Amino acid sequence: MLATLAVLYAAVLGAQTYAPYGADIALGIALGAASIAAMSLTLILSARPRWAEPLFGGLDRMYKVHKWLGIAALALMIGHNTLEPELENVVRETRLGEFASDVGEVAFNGLIGLILISWIKRIPFTRLELPWSIWRFTHRFTGLLFAVAALHQFAVDKPSGLDGTLDLYLNALSLAGLAAWLFMQFVAPYLRPRAFVLENIDRHGSVAEVTLRPEGRALRWRPGQFAFLSAPDAGMAEAHPFTIASAPRADGHLRFGIKALGGWTRRLPERLAHGQRLRVEGPYGRFVFRKRARRQVWLAGGIGITPFLAWAEALTDTDQQEIALVWVVTTRTEAFAAERLAAIAARHAGLTVHIVASAEDGRFTAQRLTQLVPFPLHESELFYCGPTGLRDAVVSGLQAAGQRPRRVHHEAFELR
Ligand SMILES: Cc1cc2nc3c(=O)[nH]c(=O)nc-3n(C[C@H](O)[C@H](O)[C@H](O)COP(=O)(O)OP(=O)(O)OC[C@H]3O[C@@H](n4cnc5c(N)ncnc54)[C@H](O)[C@@H]3O)c2cc1C
Repeated sequence: MLATLAVLYAAVLGAQTYAPYGADIALGIALGAASIAAMSLTLILSARPRWAEPLFGGLDRMYKVHKWLGIAALALMIGHNTLEPELENVVRETRLGEFASDVGEVAFNGLIGLILISWIKRIPFTRLELPWSIWRFTHRFTGLLFAVAALHQFAVDKPSGLDGTLDLYLNALSLAGLAAWLFMQFVAPYLRPRAFVLENIDRHGSVAEVTLRPEGRALRWRPGQFAFLSAPDAGMAEAHPFTIASAPRADGHLRFGIKALGGWTRRLPERLAHGQRLRVEGPYGRFVFRKRARRQVWLAGGIGITPFLAWAEALTDTDQQEIALVWVVTTRTEAFAAERLAAIAARHAGLTVHIVASAEDGRFTAQRLTQLVPFPLHESELFYCGPTGLRDAVVSGLQAAGQRPRRVHHEAFELR
């Protein structure tokens, strides 16, 4: 909402400032100004400012807004370039202005290419996904091209006597966007992560449970939050997001449950050795335990159990909620934390744990969920983490049966 207002404000300022030069020019400038504003905000959000997370309801949602702002910037830029506001008759041309006008074209073509690559995650009509590393590599250059676009808007020749509010607004946003990009490229990787040491690693089939102890200052997090993990000493310098799957402890130890889903997650357990140093950046996310909901269903699909492991471990005697934790796995051997959960449930009368193995018990459905949960689903709040297909099937099944929970909260294990 705030981001939309900031972009709209740029468009209105652009149209107002250039209205005396005709409708075409005013519209062209409005589109260009809105595009610069949208791109600046895209870069500001990509710096993961902690203060902004509550405004968006979590980093995953902030990245969604980032993505749609990028797409909006692309559309607005195309509009600006198509209308090509010609001010030659009303401005005194300078060499810098001409140069700025020419480089605008370069930024335009480059940004179109980069934004399209960023947007199209899967190659059309195929199941081929653009590898994350390539996607990430191309994404880095957006800031450079944005700098060129910002130079274009800053230095392009303008009529004399114009109201300066538009320039001031766009220059401030562009500077903030560029500063955010420079910070993310050159400062954040050194400033943000904290040093941890590998204390233990347990392998359970395709899942590795990694326990870390802080080397210096411990991390403070709320159960359910996630952090970016990297292990440069093991040749795994790219940071990947994982939920902290344990409750906060006085000694600052934390645990991750990492499922081998691709190259990085497959290699990590092979490369880690006791005592090795890892880097942890966070915490992020808003998928945290809500004490106020009296009846709660925690539904996990596969590795989506990790936030609920942290929630369950963090339960105290004062937590009097009725909670049904349902963990859907393919086979029971995949339920790597079953014993830990059973032990927690034995201590907390309000928590019941149900493990459903779809290969053995049949496909998991909304009906099965209503049979397992010891209270009416429509009186509860549903918390979900796992594949979107399972969530959609269960929620629409519950809806059809008149059992839609009061609220459905979910965590997406997806940031692009
Ligand atoms: C908020 C959040 C919490 C998560 N919690 C867990 C967890 O507790 N346990 C767990 O096993 N997995 C978790 N994941 C998923 C985990 O991050 C990915 O499985 C892992 O990054 C895949 O990397 P890969 O190179 O092995 O696989 P790839 O096949 O290269 O990637 C698979 C998908 O993972 C995502 N991805 C890849 N690299 C990155 C990256 N550097 N940063 C962000 N996303 C990336 C992309 O969407 C990609 O399409 C979480 C993801 C998010 C966003």
